[in-house]
Amino acid sequence: MSKYKLPNKPFEYQNFINGEYINSLSNEIFERKSPAHGNLIGTYQLSNKQDTEQAISVAKKAFKSNYWSDMAGSDREKIIRKAASIIRERAHELALIETLESGKPISQSLDEMEWAAGIWDYAATLARHIAGDVNTNLGKDMTVMLQKVPIGVVAMITPWNFPLLIISQKLPIALAAGCTAVIKPSEMTPGTTLLLGGILKEAGLPDGVVNILAGYGDPVGMTLSESNNVDMITFTGSTDVGKHIMRAASGNLKKVALELGGKNPQIIFPDANIDALIDAVVFGVYFNMGECCNSGSRIIIHEDVVEEFQEKVVAHSKKVKLGDPLDPSVKFGAIINKMQLDKIKKYVDSGTAQGAKLLLGGNQITINNGNYFEPTIFTDVKPEMEIACEEIFGPVLSILTFKTRKEAIEIANSTPFGLSAGVWTKDLDTAMIMTREIDAGTVWVNNWMSGNPEIPFGGFKQSGIGRELGPGAIDEFMETKSVMIKTEVSNGSWV
Ligand code: NAD
Repeated sequence: MSKYKLPNKPFEYQNFINGEYINSLSNEIFERKSPAHGNLIGTYQLSNKQDTEQAISVAKKAFKSNYWSDMAGSDREKIIRKAASIIRERAHELALIETLESGKPISQSLDEMEWAAGIWDYAATLARHIAGDVNTNLGKDMTVMLQKVPIGVVAMITPWNFPLLIISQKLPIALAAGCTAVIKPSEMTPGTTLLLGGILKEAGLPDGVVNILAGYGDPVGMTLSESNNVDMITFTGSTDVGKHIMRAASGNLKKVALELGGKNPQIIFPDANIDALIDAVVFGVYFNMGECCNSGSRIIIHEDVVEEFQEKVVAHSKKVKLGDPLDPSVKFGAIINKMQLDKIKKYVDSGTAQGAKLLLGGNQITINNGNYFEPTIFTDVKPEMEIACEEIFGPVLSILTFKTRKEAIEIANSTPFGLSAGVWTKDLDTAMIMTREIDAGTVWVNNWMSGNPEIPFGGFKQSGIGRELGPGAIDEFMETKSVMIKTEVSNGSWV
């Protein structure tokens, strides 16, 4: 029997402002029910515009006082690294909350805690490597120092699909840079991000440096995007909301970093070993129930091998264990909410209506009182169909075919997105040409969804602006100041 259980009573969360857990100014709360069970599992503060402005002013004051940014990088490192170790110590508790709020399998939530902690470790190392540069190549009397300075107050808005992991792609790096932060997690999965406040306090973070509010896009996210006291906003979520944030951020021209949606192609050439790739394809599309920006939801396969592929992908998909996500053996849990379930159904109807052939699934299923949908596969999909070019964010695979490499590239690049892509081939020339031609921030060759804190991640086209992770991630949260020093005033005169 699983040791992970529904709580006897809902967890009660507060906002984390200036180092303390407090209620919202109105004392109003909102609730979350487990999408896998229907039970009430959490209550959160319903923050309003005033709560948000208060959090911003605390972060601004903390930044202006310089106590965080003036610390030696090695001292910031210790605090960030300690946070990593507390995340690991509390991994089971945090993972349970993520599964209860999101419906994702508990084994996957546990893996995500380790990935998140790994990024905190990596960011801790980066904190010691901020050094700027010096240029003495401009003549003997000129020395230029390129100083790296933190950008200021960073607002962070995150989605529901990987709550602690996504905030961990932003917050520790911004902290390593010396920034302060105001964070708004998704209203559907705020629990672990709110607990991060206490974790950071325990790790030794000074009060006011990180402030976390629960609430909705309107008003909390909008107030953060519009505020003249926020210097940068980093957002992960849908392309539509990303565009909205970019417009709202224009008031004070704050820096904007966006990690948005995807409709990621996996291109399979006829020389690829289908048996070897089938598990990666099934993982790529059903991981997190397809609610993943990196979902490999578009298979573009050579027509000579499509029949073999279809047969094997259907057989393998049937083996995915679906059920209560609190069961550690389950790989496929519940869909986040009824609205998302309806959106998936709408796309399945559209696929059928536009002439695609349903090979597997296509139906909602009843388990507990939750929102579940079957793994679903369409074939005979054409590039112009909605299921081929729009982000469904559910467990729906579309299979398209090609005859020539040129055609495969055209189909791969035919959506407004450019987040990630995969190429399956044994031929080096084909692999190299495809990696050059595909418009995507990440291209995987003979693998899918590998990632490391050391490797930058982000999107081309409408999948985003900027890159997270990698050694350059810290520069996203810093300004460069050119300090030009003349050692001898020349005899020359302008007038
Ligand atoms: P969403 O855009 O609906 O919401 C994301 C966040 O924005 C939430 O916290 C929400 O409350 C807030 N928000 C909503 N309206 C707002 C507004 N007007 N102003 C400011 N904030 C607002 O996205 P979602 O449904 O939570 O997440 C799914 C989307 O996220 C998908 O499109 C997925 O591809 C994308 N995503 C991208 C990445 C990536 O790294 N590229 C990673 C994960 C998810």
